[in-house]
Amino acid sequence: MTTIADSIQKVRERISAACESAGRNAADVSLLAVSKTCGPEAIREAHAAGQRAFGENYVQEGVEKIAALRDLPLEWHCIGPIQSNKTRLVAGHFDWVHTIDRLKIAERLSAQRPEGMAPLQVCIQVNVDGGATKSGVAPGEALELARAVAALPRLRLRGVMSIPEPVSDFAEARAVHGRVRSVFEQLRGAGLPLDTLSTGMSADLEAAIAAGSTMVRVGTAIFGARG
Ligand SMILES: *Cc1c(COP(=O)(O)O)cnc(C)c1O
Repeated sequence: MTTIADSIQKVRERISAACESAGRNAADVSLLAVSKTCGPEAIREAHAAGQRAFGENYVQEGVEKIAALRDLPLEWHCIGPIQSNKTRLVAGHFDWVHTIDRLKIAERLSAQRPEGMAPLQVCIQVNVDGGATKSGVAPGEALELARAVAALPRLRLRGVMSIPEPVSDFAEARAVHGRVRSVFEQLRGAGLPLDTLSTGMSADLEAAIAAGSTMVRVGTAIFGARG
């Protein structure tokens, strides 16, 4: 039987191999374990295998797991869409938010971030492949939003995130992730001190790393297919 520890080891090997092929340092790519739909026990197993950072899509589900796992020193990332009526829960429980695509949500998160907690680490979500109903700002709107978010007192802008549609061809996938990289470089070129390019999932982490990803978000390859 394949354990979660085995799967994490395999994913780490994939990350190392992809960094090697891209001439990059494996220490520059971090692994976010996407634990949506998994129970707390699976997360404990992953933690025992050395994993610290976990991503959740659904706010209420994430908050329940954060409470159930308070005894472990974990880092929690919100990677799902956030409605206005959920910002207080997110601001009060998560360490990171990857899905900032509206200033209004960012302003609420900043205003609601409790004083006793570190600033909320955030990424601007960009939509690079034009899915009209998908979340994320258009690349051309990212800089204006990033500047406004960077000015909010209780948020710390760390980078750019994207969820491109899967494509089967490696070169094509690398090109799509390359568009996310371009937005990241544009924002850095404008003087924003960003260090996080959150792109790449179970199926395409190699292409994302080839394009410059610094954080891959991996669910299925660690925890198995979601039911
Ligand atoms: C589910 C999810 C992932 C992980 O996807 P896998 O294909 O299971 O690795 C990554 N990012 C986001 C935003 C997700 O919703």
